[in-house]
Amino acid sequence: MATCRHGNDAPDETMDGLHENQGGRQRHKCAVCAYERGYQIGRSGADLPGGNEECDERLLAPDAMIDSLPEAQGTTARHKCCVCAYHMGFGKGHAIAG
Ligand SMILES: [Zn+2]
Ligand SMILES: [Zn+2]
Repeated sequence: MATCRHGNDAPDETMDGLHENQGGRQRHKCAVCAYERGYQIGRSGADLPGGNEECDERLLAPDAMIDSLPEAQGTTARHKCCVCAYHMGFGKGHAIAG
């Protein structure tokens, strides 16, 4: 598991599979925390909120969610795409919620 210093974790293979995204709003944001946000929404049985932050994979996330993520200075998740992490987490949580 990839663990961040904010107390969240995500599977290594998920983090490794994310494309890099170092620019703009996501700069230095923690992708592990983004994964956890999506995961919690998925587990709750709710639909995944869309948004207006679009990444290179054309996935969407709420810009307010991205803004609320803590910084990931010096961790492996530092340069990973938080939008994709959010969607990956949602998929995992949704599968468990069944
Ligand atoms: Zn984090
Ligand atoms: Zn992405």
